[in-house]
Amino acid sequence: MDDSALNYLQNTFGYSDFRLQQGEIVQTLVNGEDAVVLMPTGGGKSLCYQIPSLVRNGTGIIISPLIALMHDQVMALRQLGINAAYLNSTLDAKTTRQTEDDLVNGKLDMLYVAPERLTTGGFLNLLKHTTISLFAIDEAHCVSQWGHDFRPDYIRLSLLHEQFPDIPRIALTATADEKTRAEIKHRLALETAREFISSFDRPNICYRISEAQGNARTALLRFIQNEHENDSGIVYCLSRKKVDAIAAWLTEKGFTALPYHAGLSAETRLTNQQRFLKEDGVIIVATIAFGMGIDKPDVRFVAHLNLPKSMEAYYQETGRAGRDGLPANAWMVYGLQDVITLKQMMATSTAEEKYKQVERHKLETMLGFTDITSCRRQSLLNYFNEDLHEACGNCDNCLSPVETWDASVAAQKALSCVHRTGQRFGVNYLVDVLTGKDDERISQFGHDNLSVFGIGKEHDTKHWRNIFRQLISRNLLAVDVEGHGSLRLTEHCRAVLRGEQSLQLRKQNKQTSSTRKGRKLFNTSKASDNALWEALRTCRKNMADENNVPPFVIFHDATLSEMMERQPHNHEQLLGINGVGESKLEKYGDAFLKVINDHIYNEKQDPTDTVSESLLLFRSGLDIDTIAAQRKLKPSTVYSHLAECIEQGELKLHDVVKLNQQEINIIHEALLNTEADSRKLKPAFDALDGMYDYDTLRCVQAAVSPA
Ligand code: ADP
Ligand code: ZN
Repeated sequence: MDDSALNYLQNTFGYSDFRLQQGEIVQTLVNGEDAVVLMPTGGGKSLCYQIPSLVRNGTGIIISPLIALMHDQVMALRQLGINAAYLNSTLDAKTTRQTEDDLVNGKLDMLYVAPERLTTGGFLNLLKHTTISLFAIDEAHCVSQWGHDFRPDYIRLSLLHEQFPDIPRIALTATADEKTRAEIKHRLALETAREFISSFDRPNICYRISEAQGNARTALLRFIQNEHENDSGIVYCLSRKKVDAIAAWLTEKGFTALPYHAGLSAETRLTNQQRFLKEDGVIIVATIAFGMGIDKPDVRFVAHLNLPKSMEAYYQETGRAGRDGLPANAWMVYGLQDVITLKQMMATSTAEEKYKQVERHKLETMLGFTDITSCRRQSLLNYFNEDLHEACGNCDNCLSPVETWDASVAAQKALSCVHRTGQRFGVNYLVDVLTGKDDERISQFGHDNLSVFGIGKEHDTKHWRNIFRQLISRNLLAVDVEGHGSLRLTEHCRAVLRGEQSLQLRKQNKQTSSTRKGRKLFNTSKASDNALWEALRTCRKNMADENNVPPFVIFHDATLSEMMERQPHNHEQLLGINGVGESKLEKYGDAFLKVINDHIYNEKQDPTDTVSESLLLFRSGLDIDTIAAQRKLKPSTVYSHLAECIEQGELKLHDVVKLNQQEINIIHEALLNTEADSRKLKPAFDALDGMYDYDTLRCVQAAVSPA
């Protein structure tokens, strides 16, 4: 590895190691060779061209179609002490000229530019007079005419190769199947480039899906309350009306929840998006219109209240969670109505029949995915042609195995029906054959004479469709997308077909326990940790406001949480923390060290200090919300302090919560019934149907548990 590359990584960016293929990609460019990079969102594509831009002589030219992102990226780079600029239609003439002068005069490390500008004669002429270190073509799939993001300007980018044959180029994308990848290489004249294909796995995202039973809203509320109380997240809904309703409802429940959809004015959308980026703990409730060009690394959850249309959409939308690599949840409840709505949308679509076939198949696959009992990650990756050898341990199916039934015989029947009818028919037809339907088409083909005709009468049509879906999602059957949705056998099905391998399928209409606690960033149950975490976040927010950038541009959550863990108290120790480079150390180091040192000092004074302080204020007659506001804590934190006091006998239960004896008995009983081997409150909360909030339960628990 090139020493100076490592030097930039560690000292400028503040990271200790390259991730996965990053090092190799950087080295390729530093050597002056071309690269094509396929890496999932959050994989760390930017560093792949940013570091070689710095190492090599000259300015790195980065072509990006997302104008909204350029500004943010350039701001983030400037925070690191890097001379970066951008050119796009949002700049005034004066700034544009200044930037162009800087470019030609070699003052820029990196320049972000929109493709339509790059390909103008004037700009190319400027480039001829500039020392260029490399060209990076971001979102390279925009060159594909098959994709949804096609941009004609991208096609012209082949001129880079013709006019600057000696400058290394790197094309990057997070969304490209084999066909698109081939197109990228072909159209951008990158046939000889080294190809880097990273796994699409996002191991830090926990996937959880369940069928809505009862109220999906309540399920969402519980999920957020239990696992993401102070976190940023996105809630996706299908319709604008639902977006508005859910946003209003979450707001009523005390969260900062903002709507985002195409029916809102551009101004409102922008304000809401800015607040999502700049404030901590904002939830955006949105239609799928939200997300493209949002580069927020600390989105801790993505919740779907409706089924996405395809696996691609699901992967892309859930992928907006946890870009910083810390634990994040992709949570979904969906209902039968979703399926119907989506199907209706497809049926009434005016698109060409061939296109509709493809969409229908994609939806079926998505449905199959929701049904599987095996590891979700394996299935998701499999859809993108990737094999994950072991179950992941971080999805609902891995975490709490679902009820299944032995579907070996049913599967054999279904598979042989596909085989006997010549692998030319779709699900509807096959089900009709299996259930022995009296149908003209069937008799025309003579399929009523087959041994499989009517051998599946023990299941109804709905169940058979469910079985087929599951067979498709398990890759035992494949849908011929180009054709007419007909099913064919895959090589994976042989063992099942021959009865050598049994097959367990998810039972229908059983709710999976989706509300299982996901992994948290860290355990904030200790009041003093909570205080430090809040103090660090406040410090970050102040710095962000001062510099007019989003908080995550100052430091990521991961960096703050490492600060919490290691509690550095000098510059050298602070530099050892991932995400702290020299420039940021100089700008913000002292402020954060002060926060940490104050905290350590306070802790030494008296470990129970923070609890005592809450107690003191409470005894002086302040109510909990006032104490929380005054101490810059969450009300729930103050409750936990008071609960501690109750447990220590310093307060009586009814000093803190207003409950009559009967209510206390009910809660007590629920706690006894559910506590078993832990002090977790969730089972009791659930058993009581959410009638009492966690704060109340915590206080009762403190009162009844032996001190
Ligand atoms: P992508 O463009 O692939 O979606 P980014 O380049 O935005 O991803 O990187 C995702 C996150 O990972 C960023 O916040 C970045 O700072 C962080 N990151 C990238 N490379 C590293 C690394 N080697 N070590 C630690 N963090 C990294
Ligand atoms: Zn799994």
